Amino acid sequence: MAWHNRTKIVATLGPASNSDKMVSQLVQAGADVFRINCAHADHATIAETIARVRRIAKAQHRAIGILADLQGPKIRVGRLRNAEPIYLKRGAEVTIDVTPGVVGELLADGSVRIGTGYRGLADDVRVGERVLLDDGNLEVRVHRVDGPRIHARVVYGGMLHQFKGINLPGSKVSAACLSKKDLSDLRCVLANGVDFVALSFVRTASDVTELRGHIKRLNGDAQIIAKIERPEAVRNATSILAVSDALMVARGDMGVELGPEAVPPTQKRLIDLANEARKPVITATQMLESMILNPRPTRAEASDVANAIYDGTSAVMLSAETASGKHPIRSVRIMEKIIRTAERDVYSRLGDRRRKPSSGAATVTQATVRAAAYAAYEAHVRLIAVYTETGGTAQLLAGERPPTHVVAFTPSMRTMQKLALTWGIFARKIRPGRTSHELTLDGDRIMRAEGLVKSGDRIVQIAGQVRETGLTNTMTIREL
Ligand code: PGA
Ligand code: MN
Repeated sequence: MAWHNRTKIVATLGPASNSDKMVSQLVQAGADVFRINCAHADHATIAETIARVRRIAKAQHRAIGILADLQGPKIRVGRLRNAEPIYLKRGAEVTIDVTPGVVGELLADGSVRIGTGYRGLADDVRVGERVLLDDGNLEVRVHRVDGPRIHARVVYGGMLHQFKGINLPGSKVSAACLSKKDLSDLRCVLANGVDFVALSFVRTASDVTELRGHIKRLNGDAQIIAKIERPEAVRNATSILAVSDALMVARGDMGVELGPEAVPPTQKRLIDLANEARKPVITATQMLESMILNPRPTRAEASDVANAIYDGTSAVMLSAETASGKHPIRSVRIMEKIIRTAERDVYSRLGDRRRKPSSGAATVTQATVRAAAYAAYEAHVRLIAVYTETGGTAQLLAGERPPTHVVAFTPSMRTMQKLALTWGIFARKIRPGRTSHELTLDGDRIMRAEGLVKSGDRIVQIAGQVRETGLTNTMTIREL
């Protein structure tokens, strides 16, 4: 087998890719984690999609993660009459009516009425504020709020399609972090065993702990990915990260709410924070945007993907490129190639490796993985083999950005799927052993069978005391 890249690829599934054939090809092209956008999928489709991914991953002997993206307090335009888009003319009068059941339409007097599912909108906006529609492509300014009706005038016009996003860059959105729909989506995705739940429009750490409470109550064990896209979340990034399992740099809405110029520095800061905390971070949105239509990315997009790797991201994400674009497979293939090329450059220059010590208290495990990364560098080893139950040790090791590939052996399929998002980790299943000697015999056999190592190769091995999860205390340099 060929070595997999170290930076992981998250691919969003949608109408263009949600079939056995496409998922299978996306896995072969290099997708590590599939994202299901709950805003656009019904529960039957979600269940079917999860079963499909699990079936195909199994057939291809791959550990593939599944991420369910909850829409959170995302505000959307409601249904439009006959699902037909409406043209908003500059200067035209637009009424956003939060009364339930309003169907958007062009009225006889030339003004436009639209609805939204977010009832609190009329309380959150103030006269004089801007309301952005469709990722900021359209803009209206509020001049009067009258009970459930917000009266506004079009500043930047264009075509408005139903269910497009609404952003309130200036207001404090008071919506609950999890709507009724989110809770019902959560129940569905946990029942179907997803590995990650991403929460959109997180504002504070308590939004995350609230979600964690619901997951616990529903007996789920999915990890939480906080999507950083609101100005408050950027400000509260440290406290949000502390209670989350991973971050997503959600550049789409971030660019609307904070302005595109705020995205590059924020991306770098969030990646640094997550790396320091040894938690995965996904760089998301518009990475290969032009490939929704074109077979080739722009040079700026190729640079963007590569630069996220130079920044130290754990994973890069494709959204509409794979969900609804014309070239889902090509998009993953090209992303894989950009990653491979960038990684060869970054990690061939060992002196440049970021290996910032974690700011947390140094534990025995922390010291062990650091010694392993250092040994791999000094002793020119083929790879690092890590024996891990929960994946925690593998994740700490990844944080050291070791110069070689890392094979994580675990008896847990769940752990393998979670590690699909972790930088540099290639997970393999072993039988639960009684002694660490038994485990390593099994691990050695797998590595040889897959051609990852051959006799005479030197490897670094990290293990713990069997039956004592959490105590990783041995680092060995072995010759096979
Ligand atoms: P979305 O989140 O695609 O669910 O909006 C990502 C982003 O905003 O960048
Ligand atoms: Mn978003």
